[in-house]
Amino acid sequence: MILILLGPPGAGKGTQAKLLASALGIPHISTGDMFRDHKARGTELGKKIQAIMDSGGLVTDDITNTMVDERLSRADVMSGCILDGYPRTVGQAEHLDGLLKKLGRTVGKVLSYEVSEDALVDRIGGRRTCPTCGAVYHLTQNPSKSVGRCDKEGATLVQREDDKPAKIRTRMQEYAVKTAPLKAHYASRGQVIELDGLGAPGAILAETRRRLGR
Ligand code: AMP
Repeated sequence: MILILLGPPGAGKGTQAKLLASALGIPHISTGDMFRDHKARGTELGKKIQAIMDSGGLVTDDITNTMVDERLSRADVMSGCILDGYPRTVGQAEHLDGLLKKLGRTVGKVLSYEVSEDALVDRIGGRRTCPTCGAVYHLTQNPSKSVGRCDKEGATLVQREDDKPAKIRTRMQEYAVKTAPLKAHYASRGQVIELDGLGAPGAILAETRRRLGR
């Protein structure tokens, strides 16, 4: 089953995507993680997208779609996958529709995580990540055992460049203008499941699985 996770920055999509992927035994595909990996490795693509990512803006549809086409052509997505952070524009959603049609597949459900704007700002502002393994913490809601250090790697936790206050506003605007309309795109086909994104990750996962029936 191909699942799409929708929700504004800070809604907890990444956390739920990882939990769901492990619970359902299907890969977690995060375009944000893929772009960050390119940046960290200093690839040609990484250099091209660095400035736009750091500003909180969206990478172009062409670049993003090409990267996703390659990822979705791999064998490990045969039994399904969780798409986290893609599609993010109506153009990307239409591209994905065309790609899946060619592959003889369809989107299963679209999980839309709803969170108030105040909670989003708090979540993003307190988010810290491990530069080595990508583990995500929150200063108060999900702190690491030793302050400022990753539980697994011991690495110093960092704040993502685009999680800094000035960039959060740009990301929220990008979401409102370009991504929020996607909900209507999928709702018109009866594919959207709305979920409360506030609460303990385990409880949200349980509710997501109950609504999915899996
Ligand atoms: P995320 O980790 O999903 O919040 O993504 C981090 C950043 O990567 C975004 O702010 C964008 O700059 C870029 N990005 C991730 N996914 C996409 C996408 N589907 N389309 C365009 N840009 C994206």
